[in-house]
This record gives sequence, structure tokens and C-alpha cells, in this order.
Amino acid sequence: MKRLHPDLVDVATRRTPGAINRQVVLNLLRAGQPTSRADLARRLGMQRAAVGRIVNDLIEKGLVREGAAGETSRGRKPTLLHLDSRGRCGVAVDVRATRTFLMITDLVGKPLSAVRTMATEREPREFVAGLARETRQLLADHPQAGRCHAVGIAFPGMLDRTGSVVVQAPALGWRDVALKAPLVAALGLPVVMENAAKACALAQIWDARGHAAPPGDFVFVTVSDGVGVGIVLGGEVLRGRHNVAGEFGHLPLNVEGPRCACGATGCWEAYVSNLATVARCAGQPLRPGQAPSSELAAMTVGDVIARARGGDVRAATALNSTAHYLGLGLASIVNTFDPARIFIGGEITAAWDLIEAHVRRGLAERALAATAADTPIVVVAAEEQPRLRGAAALVGAQVFVAEDVA
Ligand SMILES: [Zn+2]
Repeated sequence: MKRLHPDLVDVATRRTPGAINRQVVLNLLRAGQPTSRADLARRLGMQRAAVGRIVNDLIEKGLVREGAAGETSRGRKPTLLHLDSRGRCGVAVDVRATRTFLMITDLVGKPLSAVRTMATEREPREFVAGLARETRQLLADHPQAGRCHAVGIAFPGMLDRTGSVVVQAPALGWRDVALKAPLVAALGLPVVMENAAKACALAQIWDARGHAAPPGDFVFVTVSDGVGVGIVLGGEVLRGRHNVAGEFGHLPLNVEGPRCACGATGCWEAYVSNLATVARCAGQPLRPGQAPSSELAAMTVGDVIARARGGDVRAATALNSTAHYLGLGLASIVNTFDPARIFIGGEITAAWDLIEAHVRRGLAERALAATAADTPIVVVAAEEQPRLRGAAALVGAQVFVAEDVA
């Protein structure tokens, strides 16, 4: 699951050409299914017969199925090919500071159940037991979803290179927690964990395959309890030596600034997280690690947005400040990577019509090149559940992109 390249034509050559071809066909199908053997041959620049052999092999392996005949202007109607995820599913899990969300999806990420939620236990052993219990119940409630292939977890924190150990999760107060092994033991299922923003970025690469144009370099920013950034350069998620690259959320905006959940002061996250927005609206200081006041605990970013829409000046000012700081941080990202676009997800995007101008102003203030200040910002609405989609992509990638597919 190390590579998830939009084209996958130039995947690592350690594998046999046959394995690479099978993977390329799978990924072309994922991008534009249903499609025909003739179309695949044309797009791959290969002989029909050769493509036919690869497709037959994939059908035998249960990864591809034939569907209805397609339309054509002349001659015999071609049989259309689909990725076959029938009878198999995955569980997508989005872990947040206070609540965890679960959903069953098929192997290409289509929801097969409603979202189930549970409280996020702060003690790792209890978290594992709770998640195993909820996952089992969710699967038991949906037997028609089929055999569960794996559980994909979008996690709010940094993971080691193997995706097994939580290096640091400020939102949960965890450091060096070996999470995957006990989860696998408790679930009896394969588990794929990924930093939430990196998972969102992976899902976005996946989605972009459906478009004619390649996605180019892009960044996915998720603003929730914390701020996560997934960076995609040359079709791959930037990981760095220890898999902790992209922690822009903890870039200092002002070292004299408010205390951040990571322990430092003045991080970007401490200015734009949901709690920062709510605290600003309530006129209270941020106190990470301490129980919030009853007023803060009862208020969400959705409430702040609703108040702002209702004409509450304090709420509108709080939102605008968050938006401005958001733009300043995005400027650092633009100055560093100059991406083709920035995707942004999180509760605050529900107020995009109110705050976009403020975000843009912050970005323009600090973007070093005027042209870079125009970087397109694409909102991924909360209804699209980007983090669950990211978690689902982790499972799908195991099947359709993993090196052991072929
Ligand atoms: Zn921080």
C-alpha cells in the first residue's frame, strides 16, 4: 500500500510484467468502469488478445466481472467489465477526539450501511475493545454486505512507517502506542491504519482517476479537532523518513500564541481547530488537556455557524478570524509546495460562503507569488464524509493496488 499512483503505468519493476499489467488494468477499471476490453486495449496501446488474457486472469481471480453489453455505433456490442466487489466489504473507521464513526463500504468505497458512532475511549486498551465490539456488531447487523476484507482506520495522529504504532496523537494524548497488533487480535481481521489527512489524500487520488485530467500535485487539509495535511506530489503521498511529513498543523503561526494540544504554543492548529473557533466565540482561552467549561463542551462549530447566520456578531467575528488564520496557514503550504489545488474538509467548510473571502485574504497576504495566491481551493463537504471515504480507500487499496494483488 506504499504506492497509489494515478497512472500506475510506471509502478516498481521488481514485479513481473504480468503482475504490473494486471494492476494497470485494475486501476484503469477503477477509474472508468464499466469499460470494454477494446477500450482497455486502446488506452494501454496493447493488442486485444493480450488484454483479453489479462482480463480473463482477473475474472478468474474474482477481481473483475462481466456486466451488460455496452453501446457502440457499429458492429457487435462489447461486454462491459466491472471491478467485482460483490460479496466482499470493508469497514471504514474515522477516529475523532471524542467520537468514532464506522461504516461498511464495498471495496470501491460505496457505502453499504448507515454511519454508526461510538464514544472514543481515551485509554488504548478500552479503545481497542470498544472498536472491536462496535465493528462486530455493525457487521452482524449487515450480513448481506458479505465477507469483511479489512478494517480501514483514518487516525487523528502520526503513525510509524508500518502504520502500526501511534507515534503521537495530540487529540487523544497518545504517544508511542502500538495499536495495530491488539486491534488485529481483537477483531480477527486485517487492519489498515493511516493518518486521517493522508487517508483523505489517498481517497482523493482514487477519485481523481475518474477524471480525464491527472490531479497533479495537491494538498488535502482536514480541519476538525486538530488540523491534518496530506500532501500528494507526483501522484504519491509525501511521507518523509519517518512517515510524519506534512504536520503543518503544528507549524507555529506565533510562538507567543495559545497553547496547542501538542504541548507547544501558537501552532496553526491552535488558531483554526474546531475547539479554537468555539473558544473564540465563547470568549474563553484554549486549555488543551483540561476538561472544557460546560459552555464550551456544549458548543460545536455548527452552532457557531448557525449563530453567525442568525446575525450574531461575536460568532461571525470568531468564524472570520478562523478563516483568516486558515488562509495564513494555507499560504505556508502554497509557498512550500505550490500545489495545483487544495482540498479542504471539516465542519467549518459548511460556512464556506461566509468565510471564503477571509480565507482568500489570509492566503493572499502571505503567498509570496501573486499567481500562487490564486491556487484553487476545493471544499469537500461534510456530507461527502471525506475521512470515512479515506478509511474506505485504505481497504480498497489493499485489494486493487496492493503489491500482492497479482
Ligand atoms: Zn501543536
